[in-house]
Amino acid sequence: MNNYAVRVAAQLRQRYANEPEYLQSVLTWLDMIDPALDDPRYEKLDLLTRMVEPERMFTFLVPWVDDNGTAHTSHGYRVQFNSAIGPYKGGLRFHPGVNPSVVKFLGFEQTYKNALTGLPIGGASGGADFDPRGRSSREIMRFCQSFMNALYRYIGSDTDVPAGDIGVGAREIGYLYGQYKRLLGKAESSALTGKGLTYGGSKVRLEAAGFGTVYFLARMLEHQKDSIEGKTIAVSGFGNMSWGVCRKAAELGAKVVTLSGPDGYVHDPDGVVTEEKLEFLMDMRDSGQDKVSVYADRFGAAFHPGKKPWEVPVNVVIPCATQNELDVEDAVRIMANDVRYYVEGANMPATAEALKLLRLSPKILTAGSKASGSGGVAVSALEMAQNSIRYNWKRSEVDARLREIMSSIYDASAAAAEEYGLGYDLIAGNDIAAFKKISEAMIAQGL
Ligand code: GLU
Repeated sequence: MNNYAVRVAAQLRQRYANEPEYLQSVLTWLDMIDPALDDPRYEKLDLLTRMVEPERMFTFLVPWVDDNGTAHTSHGYRVQFNSAIGPYKGGLRFHPGVNPSVVKFLGFEQTYKNALTGLPIGGASGGADFDPRGRSSREIMRFCQSFMNALYRYIGSDTDVPAGDIGVGAREIGYLYGQYKRLLGKAESSALTGKGLTYGGSKVRLEAAGFGTVYFLARMLEHQKDSIEGKTIAVSGFGNMSWGVCRKAAELGAKVVTLSGPDGYVHDPDGVVTEEKLEFLMDMRDSGQDKVSVYADRFGAAFHPGKKPWEVPVNVVIPCATQNELDVEDAVRIMANDVRYYVEGANMPATAEALKLLRLSPKILTAGSKASGSGGVAVSALEMAQNSIRYNWKRSEVDARLREIMSSIYDASAAAAEEYGLGYDLIAGNDIAAFKKISEAMIAQGL
C-alpha cells in the first residue's frame, strides 16, 4: 500500500479505535483506491486526511414526551462530511443502533455515493438513537418536531439537505419538513428531500433506492451479454429498498424470491411480483411490527425463523437491510450456491472478511453500495432540481433519468477499473472514480 495511505490508516486506527463501522468503511476504501494514489499532490496537500474525516459533526439532545406523558431524551447527530461537490446531502436514520461510528460511516459512504451521480451534491448523514418501533403517529410527530427544533439552524437548500434512511420514511419527512417550515416562516422546499408528492416531492423517490439497484444490475448484466429476464434474486429486509427492488425486478422480468426481517426469512418461489404482494409489503412496513413472518402467513410461503436468506440458491444476491448483515459464513454459502452476481443495496452490508471472499471468488461479480446503492440519493438530487425550477417532471422522465444515472455510474466504475488494470473490479473502480472526482474538486478549491 502507498506509504502516505499507510500512515493515514494508522492514524485512523488509533484515533477511532472505538468506532468499528467507521474504521471498516474507511480502511476498506483506502485499500480500494490504493492503485490511484501515486500523485504527489495528495500527500503534499494532506488530502487523504481531509477526505476520511468529516468537515463538521455535531450531536444534540432530542427531548420528547410519549403518549403517557413520560419524558424521554434521545441523542441526535448530523455529520456534514464533505462539501467539495455541492451542499451536504444525506439521510437521517432513526434506530437504536445509531451512534457516532454509524453516522460517520454513513456520511463517509454517502460522500462517495453522491459523487458519481453527476449531480452537485456533497455528502452527509445523521439521525438519532430513537426507536420508532411500536410508537404512535403522534409520538413520531412530536419526536420529529423536537429533532428539527435542534437541527433547523444547520440545514438549508444550499448548506445541508437531509432525507430519509432506516426509520425515516415519507411520514417522518413530512413532520420534519412541516416543523422546518414553521420555524423558518417560509417554504424552502429543497431543504429536505423525500417529501410527499403533494408538497414538493419527486415522483419515483419512494421507489428510487430499489429501482436504482436493479437498473445497475441490469446494466451489469447487459455488459456481460446476459439479461435480467428470468433471473431469481435473494433480497434481505422488507423495507423501502427491498420493496423497490421487488417492484423493478418484476417489471423487468426477474423475480425476488426471499425477504427477511429480525425474526427470520421467507422463501416465496413464485416471487414477490404481484401488486397484491407489493402492497402487502408496504402495509407490513407501515404496521411498525418489524416482522416478516406475516408475509408467509398471508401468502402461504415458507418461513424460516432465525435464519438469513443467503442459503437459498439464486442467480443474484442483493442485501438491502443494514450494515454487516452478511458474514463469512453467509459468503461461503453464497459461493457454494453458485450465485453469479452480488449487488449491494444497503450501505456496507458485508463484513470486511465476507466482502473479501466474495470479491475474490472468480465466479461472482460484485458491485458495492457506493455505486449500486445510489438510486435513492440520485432521485433526491433530481427532487432538488425540480424544486429549484418550481416544476415537476413526469414519472417516466424521472425514471428515465434514474436509469441513465445508474448506467453512467456503472460505466464510470467499469472504465476506472480497466484504466487501473483491475480487470472487472467494479467496487475498486467505483471508489477510484469517485475519489478522483472529489479530490480534483477539493484541490481546485484550495485549502
Ligand atoms: N439514505 C439514503 C441513501 O443512502 C438517502 C440519501 C438522500 O436521499 O439524501 O441514499
